[in-house]
Amino acid sequence: MVIDEGKQRNLPASGVHGLLTRDGISPAELVTLGRAEVEGYGGGIMEARVASVSGEVGNFRLKTDDGQTFSARRLLIATGLVDELPEIPGLRELWGKDVLHNCPYCYGYEVRDRPIGVLNTQSGVHFAQILRQWSADVTLFLHTGPQPSAEELEQLTAREISVVEGEVVGLEREAGRLQGVRLADGAVVPCPMLALRPNLVARADFLPGIGLTPSEHELGVGFHLKADPLTGATSVPGVWAAGNVAELGISVVGSMSMGEDAAKFINGELVDEDIQISLKRD
Ligand SMILES: Cc1cc2nc3c(=O)[nH]c(=O)nc-3n(C[C@H](O)[C@H](O)[C@H](O)COP(=O)(O)OP(=O)(O)OC[C@H]3O[C@@H](n4cnc5c(N)ncnc54)[C@H](O)[C@@H]3O)c2cc1C
Repeated sequence: MVIDEGKQRNLPASGVHGLLTRDGISPAELVTLGRAEVEGYGGGIMEARVASVSGEVGNFRLKTDDGQTFSARRLLIATGLVDELPEIPGLRELWGKDVLHNCPYCYGYEVRDRPIGVLNTQSGVHFAQILRQWSADVTLFLHTGPQPSAEELEQLTAREISVVEGEVVGLEREAGRLQGVRLADGAVVPCPMLALRPNLVARADFLPGIGLTPSEHELGVGFHLKADPLTGATSVPGVWAAGNVAELGISVVGSMSMGEDAAKFINGELVDEDIQISLKRD
């Protein structure tokens, strides 16, 4: 049984890239196709939000927002993450469209040769250098992020990346498209696209009842549910995690792969449990 609220992280994007054989498919269509496949094999899909989980391995209990309850022998948590965006007026409305996320490999080719601004949040200098591969017109807005070192400034100059000082206080829009970046001194810098690395936080607020809470990611990019990289097992027996909730940086194909690996280990455990149940019965 899949219980899914249906608010996938990439829904604002026009297409999914980096997914072999499905390049450019709309995120919503990908979900529709995936759900149909699951149902075709007899799996259940329920659109609902899990509000709390309690119990233990062999007998977990789930409660949804709308008051339904379920029990499960094992759990796979695949609830993704929240992109925590800077509070800049106009930014949220353009997220996933003209404001681009932390994975340049998802859209770099599509924005090639166009002017790109980079908001200096987490490691903005390096992010600007990565985007420079696709466009010769990259501007780094220093904003309130860490100031580049002398060496980094030299590297930015060497790659002809413009650097704009000052805090970004708003985004200028026209007909729903980004036009420019407004600075604290009132100046507006023309900019049709702005990329940034948000703080990434696992969607796991419903798990404290079984002792699972997110912890800081080793790369300092946000908070995740710690899970074994091979099996997806968490610190709680009977609970696995896959996708962005566990690995903040992975894309669609990596999330699918983690889910598939975890499913095999979950199935193995259920088979072992079935053997024990049969032995007791005999
Ligand atoms: C704007 C944008 C564009 C992107 N473009 C690409 C791209 O082109 N190619 C690519 O490979 N990757 C892309 N990504 C990354 C991609 O979105 C993620 O890698 C992928 O969505 C992770 O899959 P997931 O299943 O872990 O999480 P999600 O796809 O976010 O799915 C998690 C699901 O769990 C549900 N959920 C959460 N909490 C609960 C709860 N308590 N109860 C029930 N359901 C719950 C959510 O509603 C959601 O449906 C993009 C990301 C963003 C932000």
